[in-house]
Amino acid sequence: MKSYYRVVVIGGGVVGCSVLYHLAKLGWTDIALVERKTLTSGSSWHAAGIFHALNADPNIAALQAYTIKLFKEIQADSGQNVGLHMTGGINVASAPERWEWLKAAYRIFQTMGIDTARLVGRDEIKAMHPLMDVSDVLGGLYDVSEGHVDTYGTTHAYAGAARKSGATIIENNRVLELKAKPDGWDVVTEKGTIGCEHVVNCGGLWAKQVGLMAGLDLPVTPMEHHYLVTETIPEIAAMKEELPLIVDLEGFTYTRQEGKGLLVGLYERNFKHWRMEGAPWDFGIELNQEDIDRIAPELEIGFKRFPALQQVGIKRWVNGSFTFTPDGNPLVGRAPGVRNYWTACGVMAGFLQGGGVGLSLAEMMIHGEPSTDIWGMDIARYGGWAANREYLRQTTGQFYSRRFVMTYPNEQLWAGRPLRTAPAYEAMTENGMRWGALWGLEIPLYVAPSKDFEEKPTLKRSNAHDIVGAECRKTRETVGLLDTSAFSRYEVTGPKALAWLDRVMASKIPAPGRCALAPMLAPSGKLRGDLSVFNWGDGTFWIMGSYYLRAWHMRWFRDHLEDGVNLRDISDDWVGFSLSGPRSRQLLEAVVQNADVSNQGFRFLACREIDVGLSRAKVGRLSVNGELGYEINVPASEHLTLYRTLKKAGADLGMVEIGFNAMLSLRIEKSFGLWNREFTQVYSPGETGLDRWIAFDKKGFIGRDAALKERDQGTAKRRLVTLEVAAVDADSSSWEPVWRGDKMVGYITSGAYGHTVGKSIGMALLDKAHAEVGTELKTHVVGVERKAKVIAPSPYDPSGARMRI
Ligand SMILES: Cc1cc2nc3c(=O)[nH]c(=O)nc-3n(C[C@H](O)[C@H](O)[C@H](O)COP(=O)(O)OP(=O)(O)OC[C@H]3O[C@@H](n4cnc5c(N)ncnc54)[C@H](O)[C@@H]3O)c2cc1C
Repeated sequence: MKSYYRVVVIGGGVVGCSVLYHLAKLGWTDIALVERKTLTSGSSWHAAGIFHALNADPNIAALQAYTIKLFKEIQADSGQNVGLHMTGGINVASAPERWEWLKAAYRIFQTMGIDTARLVGRDEIKAMHPLMDVSDVLGGLYDVSEGHVDTYGTTHAYAGAARKSGATIIENNRVLELKAKPDGWDVVTEKGTIGCEHVVNCGGLWAKQVGLMAGLDLPVTPMEHHYLVTETIPEIAAMKEELPLIVDLEGFTYTRQEGKGLLVGLYERNFKHWRMEGAPWDFGIELNQEDIDRIAPELEIGFKRFPALQQVGIKRWVNGSFTFTPDGNPLVGRAPGVRNYWTACGVMAGFLQGGGVGLSLAEMMIHGEPSTDIWGMDIARYGGWAANREYLRQTTGQFYSRRFVMTYPNEQLWAGRPLRTAPAYEAMTENGMRWGALWGLEIPLYVAPSKDFEEKPTLKRSNAHDIVGAECRKTRETVGLLDTSAFSRYEVTGPKALAWLDRVMASKIPAPGRCALAPMLAPSGKLRGDLSVFNWGDGTFWIMGSYYLRAWHMRWFRDHLEDGVNLRDISDDWVGFSLSGPRSRQLLEAVVQNADVSNQGFRFLACREIDVGLSRAKVGRLSVNGELGYEINVPASEHLTLYRTLKKAGADLGMVEIGFNAMLSLRIEKSFGLWNREFTQVYSPGETGLDRWIAFDKKGFIGRDAALKERDQGTAKRRLVTLEVAAVDADSSSWEPVWRGDKMVGYITSGAYGHTVGKSIGMALLDKAHAEVGTELKTHVVGVERKAKVIAPSPYDPSGARMRI
């Protein structure tokens, strides 16, 4: 053990060893892993070791596919056998919607380049797994590259390969304390203090405590999980081939062959947390007592699916623990607000995700950014609020118990809600507003026609489709009122505020009294934000964006902060409403006291302080749906008053209250993109059309060299386009492949029905050669092939005249 390493990785489970391996592979070799006991002595030793690519987040599915490809490589690099059983695996559907979902998932696999999967019917499933009762099975998604590994061997293979590249592993040495230093950390261990530049929390079952060592309360908790292993099953003993892995999506179980018997794991509805504050320090190679009563309902379903289970004894029960986050995805990346402290924890499936997690973290540490879009795993997708114990208990419990339960795109889940509500929430609810949740905040979806109205979960257009359609039409005909509390707001002041914005944003910073769309770039030229900047004219600037990106944006802003700049996240202090539609000016005129809001007095993209009703509001003239519109921001305590004022004034003008469902339809009719759909951290301005807003003649902004290179060398190979999709009963979603003949030429980034243009619209990133207006294409909507055609952007009001009237 040396006294200093560049990186100290805390924890020698499969994830810590993968992080160590990837850091070494990418070139950082002055690195050490410190393990409390011996490698694998957390969750890793007793995992079932199964792996498969299927994941609701396609980016994570791709990283799982990467992990699977890695097993042979680490075995070869280390000389350690990983015990690879590439048996193939089938995700089985026995409900019609699930079968549709699997067909859709198959197409998304194609987009992600996962070419080892295909759809299989009931008979083929029976032939592959004769022990299964397939009487109610509708079909499955079979992937040849699924199976299981030996968990000890895999962890040691990562470790061995890392060691060969020069990494150090120190076992039987608990990290006791972390002390921050200006240039890194002192890691206080049982065997002495190690200095380092970076620490990585791979603490697994102890991640909570390793976070608290740096003052971070991470939204992670262990939960119990069972599997059983049977005695020899004679039919299996007689087989030549190993049985495939089965994930029975309606049956709550996963199954694989173990020796000559079966291993059956369960995700029970009656979930149980285990040591929410983290495992005890003296916890060894131990298991929990099995709790058969608690898992009995799911076990019964499993026994029906595999009748042979009723004939043989159970050789071994495993009731172990592993960690969960509110959405079940890992916490990867640099912890916001703590220097050089990285996390790779909360990894629920370390054997199928560990490789991708290790690669992404190593890329972030060494190259400054991951090569794929890992938003779904980024630790900055949560704020401190998510570590609230009750929130964590509810959300992780919900995730665990629904692990194999289908969640429909229009389904609103219950856990951790309502947490944050805007002040007009109750009044809006009384008016019929239905809500979704975003980053802990209740966000308006649409106004239901009656208290009894129930939106049915579906993969297709729901029974709320026409309600949303009416909100869209009324907005374009009269005026729509939308609660904009779910926008983030950051205040920038101080003598260097303008200079800082000029450096951080790639756009021209608006003149006093003006606002503008402002793309933000990384040094690599990749997008970091699709924000709006408001110059209020008194030395105060606002940056506005999406509410759920608050921690992610603040991490970036703080990284680039300078003396002379004061930055505050004021998103919970300031809220608001927007008015949009041809009568919105008339409405605003009825409630303003001291301002000329005519087209001459308050031009498109103007912003200023105006008295609206009783509020001294900050108003911007812009809209997210292409209509004449105003965003009215007020202190949170005045939100309800503003709501009442606008409702009263709007009553005679036919004003309609709308939600985000209408907004999503209206914006796609204008081809306006959204973050994490059309714009992501791995796309560039040239691909997405955000280059239109870049001030290339401006010197010194972050990402300028790369953006100039893209422009001058024409390196953008793809282009964001608008498609008209010949959809029937469902609209495009995202990630569906787009084909020209049999060639895949791109994929959908988002889709919706355009209620006021009467078309199903998709936005898509296509290879440039196929992006011309008029190109005839195909795509898959919920797994069904549909014709699609590239159309000119902004099918609604292409000239943009209506925003400017
Ligand atoms: C019953 C069961 C079945 C499972 N089946 C599968 C499966 O089939 N496929 C799959 O992919 N996953 C499965 N899992 C999940 C899998 O086990 C975990 O995702 C994985 O082991 C997590 O690895 P980790 O490295 O993050 O954490 P851990 O394995 O918990 O490792 C953390 C390590 O950090 C060390 N540590 C903690 N604090 C300190 C400190 N202060 N100083 C030094 N060292 C410290 C610990 O000693 C430990 O070794 C299963 C889990 C269970 C319980």
